[in-house]
Amino acid sequence: MGHIADNLAAVRARIDKACRDAGRDPADVRLLPVSKTQRPEAIEEAYAAGIRLFGENKVQEVADKAALFADKPDLDWAVIGHLQTNKAKVVAQVATEFHALDSAKVAEALDRRLDNAGRDLDVFLQVNSSGEESKFGLDPDDVEQFAKSMRQYRSLRVRGLMTLAVFSDDAAEAAACFARMQELQRRLQSTDLAAGSYSELSMGMSGDFELAIAYGATTVRVGQAIFGARQEPDTYWSA
Ligand SMILES: *Cc1c(COP(=O)(O)O)cnc(C)c1O
Repeated sequence: MGHIADNLAAVRARIDKACRDAGRDPADVRLLPVSKTQRPEAIEEAYAAGIRLFGENKVQEVADKAALFADKPDLDWAVIGHLQTNKAKVVAQVATEFHALDSAKVAEALDRRLDNAGRDLDVFLQVNSSGEESKFGLDPDDVEQFAKSMRQYRSLRVRGLMTLAVFSDDAAEAAACFARMQELQRRLQSTDLAAGSYSELSMGMSGDFELAIAYGATTVRVGQAIFGARQEPDTYWSA
């Protein structure tokens, strides 16, 4: 086994343990490997180890990589980063999941492009659970209204909520973000929302996925713990 396969096994073992500790079934937590900045060889290696869905946060990069791996029709892409309306077309063409939906403008642009292309897209509503200015996402107080507005989009399938917890040495601060998300999910599930079940929480990264699992994460987005340190942005692939 190459080191990426080893890392994948190690991360899966940590997910299993976090699930056991939380009294959860490991089958209910999905690992989404994040390949941003990583070279094609790293993706090849993870593919050989059985990975079929990769997370990317930049539109140009996911477009380039999707073209490069066009010979692998079973390889799917999840766009996990903020999207500008004018780039919705690319996401509508290449992604099967979008984790960072936080505006009506982007929802409209995606839905229109998807409709034209005859495709559907699984989406997660991004929530700014830490209140940091620097973070994207809906204000927690606006999520319910936004969730209701999702009913009008025929091509967007809402799977749940997504967040990035605060970056902190104090685990209690990240835990507060995750707890806020779990509470928000419960609130949404108790209201009448035709569009989506809100059964999913996309949260937890290399540094905090075990904590996220304790608070109900169903998809953890893990990059560095699988692929190692990120590559320099301008040299992520040299083709
Ligand atoms: C990069 C990224 C991740 C993964 O972060 P790691 O620290 O490499 O595990 C998860 N989610 C988003 C939105 C990201 O941009």
